[in-house]
Amino acid sequence: MPIRKATGVELRRSGFGIFARTEVVVGGRAIARLSRRDLRRIEDGIAIEGAAAVTDDLDRTLWRTEDGYYWDDDGLDAEAVALLAWDRLRRQDARVERLRKIRASEEAVVGARRERIPEDVRLFVWTRDEGRCVRCGAEEDLQFDHVIPVARGGGNAPENIQVLCGPCNRAKSDQIAR
Ligand SMILES: [Zn+2]
Repeated sequence: MPIRKATGVELRRSGFGIFARTEVVVGGRAIARLSRRDLRRIEDGIAIEGAAAVTDDLDRTLWRTEDGYYWDDDGLDAEAVALLAWDRLRRQDARVERLRKIRASEEAVVGARRERIPEDVRLFVWTRDEGRCVRCGAEEDLQFDHVIPVARGGGNAPENIQVLCGPCNRAKSDQIAR
């Protein structure tokens, strides 16, 4: 891992005018103090090279990029850090996009399975439940509901299907989601 995201980093400013100072605090521990010139150097570095060294801490360097702070313990230069940070974001975007596609296709599969309650099962359940919501007895806005949701492995057997009205079905979904 050439660079890694630095967490818990903050610049703590105190004082005014010539007494103003900025401390680099990592996880509650002040590791360096920055002058105004340092701050300007960091700002310029980010603008020009995409990354700027904030300070050294033991064997590692704390870098700042537009995307946040990074640690480097390989003695990289600003260009390398900027590139690695950019690559890291790019790969993260690609991973998110891939996960989004996987989830969408899994939801499509679940959706397809959900629609396929066989006609004879529907008829059986409808008769068994007397054409009413099994929870409140409503006779309108009725739906076939999976007692154990398809997403959680519930199937289309009659024991797992029941008649619910819309409001009861939504109330049940809310309970499961919680
Ligand atoms: Zn109901």
